[in-house]
Amino acid sequence: MMFRQSAGMTSAPDARILLSLAAIIGVVVFVIDALTPLDIAIAVLYVVVVLLVASTGSRQAAIATAATCVALTLLAFAMSHDENYSGGSIARCIVSLLAIGTTSFLALRNQANTSRLQEQIQLLNLTHDAIVAYDMNDRITFWNQGAEALYGWSAQQAIGQRIHELTRTSSAIPLDELRDEVVRKGRWEGELQRVRSDGSTVVVSSRFALWRDDKGRPCAVLATNNDITERKRMEAELQRQQEELRATIDAIPGMVWSSSRDGELSYINRRWNELGITLGENGGGVWTSIVHPDDWPAMQAAWRGAIATGKPFENVSRIRHSNGTYRWMHIGAEPLRDADGRILRWYGVNTDIEERKQAEQALERSEAFLSDAQRLSRTGSIGTRLPAGDMWWSDEVYRIFEYAPDYTPGMELIVARTHPDDLELVRQAWDRELAGAPYVDVEHRLLMPDGRVKHVHYVAHLAAPQSAAIEYVGALMDVTERQVAQEALDRSTAELAHVTRVTMLGELAASIAHEVTQPLAAIVTAGDAASRWLNRAKPDLAEVGQSIGQMVRDAKRASDVIRQIRAMAQKRDPSQAVLDVNGIVRESIELVRRELDAARVELEARYVEPPPLVCGDRVQLQQVVINLVMNGVQAMSGVTGRARRMRVGTRRFDEHYGQVFVEDSGTGISEENVGRLFNAFFTTKPDGMGMGLSICRSIVEAHGGRIWAESQQGQGATVQFVLPVDKGYCDEQR
Ligand code: ADP
Repeated sequence: MMFRQSAGMTSAPDARILLSLAAIIGVVVFVIDALTPLDIAIAVLYVVVVLLVASTGSRQAAIATAATCVALTLLAFAMSHDENYSGGSIARCIVSLLAIGTTSFLALRNQANTSRLQEQIQLLNLTHDAIVAYDMNDRITFWNQGAEALYGWSAQQAIGQRIHELTRTSSAIPLDELRDEVVRKGRWEGELQRVRSDGSTVVVSSRFALWRDDKGRPCAVLATNNDITERKRMEAELQRQQEELRATIDAIPGMVWSSSRDGELSYINRRWNELGITLGENGGGVWTSIVHPDDWPAMQAAWRGAIATGKPFENVSRIRHSNGTYRWMHIGAEPLRDADGRILRWYGVNTDIEERKQAEQALERSEAFLSDAQRLSRTGSIGTRLPAGDMWWSDEVYRIFEYAPDYTPGMELIVARTHPDDLELVRQAWDRELAGAPYVDVEHRLLMPDGRVKHVHYVAHLAAPQSAAIEYVGALMDVTERQVAQEALDRSTAELAHVTRVTMLGELAASIAHEVTQPLAAIVTAGDAASRWLNRAKPDLAEVGQSIGQMVRDAKRASDVIRQIRAMAQKRDPSQAVLDVNGIVRESIELVRRELDAARVELEARYVEPPPLVCGDRVQLQQVVINLVMNGVQAMSGVTGRARRMRVGTRRFDEHYGQVFVEDSGTGISEENVGRLFNAFFTTKPDGMGMGLSICRSIVEAHGGRIWAESQQGQGATVQFVLPVDKGYCDEQR
């Protein structure tokens, strides 16, 4: 028997037609049976009536019809035979009754079978799966509601069609092979792609089962199909997402990896190609092969520790690349845990930090350089942020102030070390910083707890402001040694200046003697005159008074000269006073006038008015002027054939400096010598010491000034110096 889908229960119109037909046949059979004397078992035809009624599916109707047919057969028998019952007619009646009974029995059984089948088909319809049966010619014999829903064709439309043509089946393997496999193995399962009635494509998961007849011949295939289009789409989406994730992981500028909970590498991204590593069987041996042998023990210990404790892993090691070079890498990993907190696996990333490492090393090196340089030069750095007063000190600053490095830097620490006499200077500098001065420069002393005194020089400038706060970047120099050396130098300069002055006085002895003897002679002369006026018979007191006045003036002049000579000869420290430059030049010329006269020098003196006032030591500055004048006189001593002219005077150099110049018409200075004139021991004179101009430079520079020479050889020379005009600080310094 073949599984073939029936139309189910007969529909109502069909049933009516069948019943009518059955009634007509029944009536015709009865009429012929009862009324015609035919010697045939016409009543057998009642089976047609029974079959027709049974085919409507109604059990009661079939039973009733069978009973009616039996009754009609018996009635017709009675009607047609009166009392004469022949043996033949009885036999015909019995045959008819047997036929009706057997047929009714079979029809009822068939009806029961059909309804059972119908129920089973209804059950098959209940499933969501699409169930299709087709014969060995692929013709559809069964098409459940699931198939209708899945493919869109009704059972009526589908039954009788060729399944693969109707649904345009396509599969990974050719359909012929598929059929062969079903026949060979009796079943097949796999994915098929089909087209629905509306033209859309559907992917189904199909299971085929072969149905064989009693003789074992294949006769039909039962196929159950599930729509897996959505699942396939999800799978494709998942696949796409996985590929995207993989591409993303590959694009990460780091080496991504995962490992089992016990640390064996199980996944590495494409970046690992740079190391020439592809993950083979032995995931555990990868690290040992790429980590620098010197770094491996520490890394191994850290990794083991992380695996044991489950804490995130972090390590910095050198990793070998495929070209054989090692690069510093940061290796970090985090564990992935399940709901119970058990570690499932580790996920890690290796990041190349070679550049950062090199930069760090370079920074460490330059910090070491800087720190060494600071120590050697005794210069520390101070960063100050105002108005809060936050400070940053370099190590050298701590050393200069002699504080332990754990002190928090601040102004109060500086004040605590500042020499009490210099506190005001430091406060002023601090106030200038608070006021935002672009540049601060202060030199002051420190008084250490053990009584030592240090000299420091602090300079700072306003850094480009990055925030609203004022920031100073400054340098603090320990200038104690320089200061001590400077003081020693100043002392020796002063001593040298004294020696040269005394030498100079020796050279000027004639002039000085003249300067002194001349007023003394005048005094004697005036004394003589006075006594003559007195000794007259009638003394002329007015004349006497005049002579005495003259004597007093001359005595004063002599005493002035002597005072100056004494000052020159005296050995003492330089002093500071506000001085009139014109006065200094005048007095100096007085002292050497005799020399000028003796050398027949025509002197022209020019003084600027008002006289520039400078702050300094009178004797030292006179020494400079005398030195320059004497050099000029000496330079002109060999000149013959032209006037020996000297111009000495003062000028205003600019608003900050006053100038003194000594111009002669002597031999001049060669271009070569102009540069070394002021060097110690440079002299062109046979009996010269070469110290004069060198001392002049020390004195002028100690006064904050500058000295230089200009000359055209053969035309004479001009030696000049400038001194800063006193701005009122002189008194403070004294
Ligand atoms: P000294 O007079 O003992 O040589 P100085 O230092 O005073 O030492 O002078 C150094 C040298 O400078 C002199 O030997 C001389 O050659 C040169 N010199 C100085 N002043 C003049 C000048 N006015 N004209 C030419 N040469 C000069």
